[in-house]
Amino acid sequence: MPHRSMTVSGVEVTPLCDAVGPMGASIRRPPAEMFAGSGLQDEPWVLHFHCYLLRDGAGRLTLVDTGIGAADSPASSWAPVPGTLAGELAAAGVAPAEIGTVILTHLHSDHASGAVADGRPVFENARYVLQQAELDAARGPMLHEVVSKIRAQLHVVEGDAEVAPGVHVHSAPGHTPGHQIVRVGELAMTGDLVLHPVQLDDPAIRYVYDDDQEAAARTRAEVLAALRAERAILATAHFSEPFLRL
Ligand SMILES: [Zn+2]
Ligand SMILES: [Zn+2]
Repeated sequence: MPHRSMTVSGVEVTPLCDAVGPMGASIRRPPAEMFAGSGLQDEPWVLHFHCYLLRDGAGRLTLVDTGIGAADSPASSWAPVPGTLAGELAAAGVAPAEIGTVILTHLHSDHASGAVADGRPVFENARYVLQQAELDAARGPMLHEVVSKIRAQLHVVEGDAEVAPGVHVHSAPGHTPGHQIVRVGELAMTGDLVLHPVQLDDPAIRYVYDDDQEAAARTRAEVLAALRAERAILATAHFSEPFLRL
């Protein structure tokens, strides 16, 4: 539990640090190629992999993203290490069966693989919230090894929805077709809307692994401008500090 929790609108938000490290060699490229036009030099890009635990005043528990998963998960071909979400949850005093809602910002393997272990849903009593467009686009190992195992618990939404009291999801496509962000009060958990701090200064800087780089840049600019206007707190998946006041 390297990061501290904060409370917004009566909801305690705890960052769960699933992993820290660089991308594996199979997909790693120089930062200047990852973020074209950024001016980044060849210093290694060390990512944190954050999930977020929400505990509201009534004790209801929501998890935002499920991380890298086990050593044989779909993320294992490139993630730096297996995910430690289970230990992070235990350190927060939470058993997986207590989680009522799991929100998957998108179906990339470092955000959703931890939903499943040994071919079964890890969060046996949870609804798994996913955008329809993301479900429609699911392919390959994420479809066969993750989505198909949680299908009975899927709670599919389209666009904006309140998925637990005070917890809202908003469609933010581009990084993936059904990418969504999560709002609780002034806090925005943004999934992979922003990958690197250079994109805060210039949202037009593209990320090589955005599915649709043009749509992602447009969404990033729009959402960041709106969040900045309200001086929201950003909670990113991959920055080293989980919370950032805009
Ligand atoms: Zn971290
Ligand atoms: Zn992603």
